Amino acid sequence: MRKIKLIYNVTAGHNEFKYFLDAIVEKFTDNDYEVSVFRTGKGDSLEEYIKESKDIYGIVVAGGDGTINKVVNIMMKNNIKVPLGVIPAGTSNDFAKHINMPASYIQCVDRILKGNIGAVDVGLANNNYFINVCSAGVCTNASQKTDKNLKNIFGKTAYFFTGLVEFFKFKPFEVKIETENSIYVGKIFLFLIFNGSTVGGMDIFTKNPSIQDGLLDCIILKDCKHRKFRKMVTNILSGKFEEDENIIYSKEKYIKITKLSGKCDDPDVDGDPGPKFPMEIRCIKDGLNMFL
Ligand SMILES: [Mg+2]
Repeated sequence: MRKIKLIYNVTAGHNEFKYFLDAIVEKFTDNDYEVSVFRTGKGDSLEEYIKESKDIYGIVVAGGDGTINKVVNIMMKNNIKVPLGVIPAGTSNDFAKHINMPASYIQCVDRILKGNIGAVDVGLANNNYFINVCSAGVCTNASQKTDKNLKNIFGKTAYFFTGLVEFFKFKPFEVKIETENSIYVGKIFLFLIFNGSTVGGMDIFTKNPSIQDGLLDCIILKDCKHRKFRKMVTNILSGKFEEDENIIYSKEKYIKITKLSGKCDDPDVDGDPGPKFPMEIRCIKDGLNMFL
């Protein structure tokens, strides 16, 4: 009998996953799987639970990007190669969207039961692994700054308003960005370094992204005046990054970002606080096995 560890975050999304829990366990047991369930919470022993992975066929996590990030960090730091399946049960499910997991929880179980396992890349920013995105600058940490209660009531709309308030207060900051082939020094509004492709439910910032190409999709929006900013937004919305002089878009294995001057909050990984500047970011090719 194959053993599955099911981890869920009870506070994720609209707190509704718990109502589906029994149906999900039943689906696995009907297919001859033995399921153990772990409910995450403050001061839990998630790391110990995941580390005991001997004879485990798969780990399944139900939650948003933040919960997946926690599980992935534990797996990567303990070299656990058991395949991971995700069920998008959070407020923000950008990573699950990137790998095309269905929105229906039960359909996700069907997908996992098919057993299509593949190696995928993982991002590493200093000592923090990330599965979807590492970012800093205007609006990028709206998910961190949004009140948890507001998030549970209004979902992503709460991010939007937090982001809007941030936008009008924001001043560009100066950075040095080094990759294997280039150096850029200047003021920027924001950078987004994607392992996935979707942020805030939008997948407009990358071109032909792949979670299996060993490369991170990097987009940097340079400081520019009002009129050029409007043009930049139009170019992003229409997918014309290359044509805009104020956008740097590239695919990289390695990026180092140093903050030189100006104010900017610490970078964010998968919607949660990440490392401080200076930050070295790497793509770990085939770092994790997943149910795809
Ligand atoms: Mg990639």
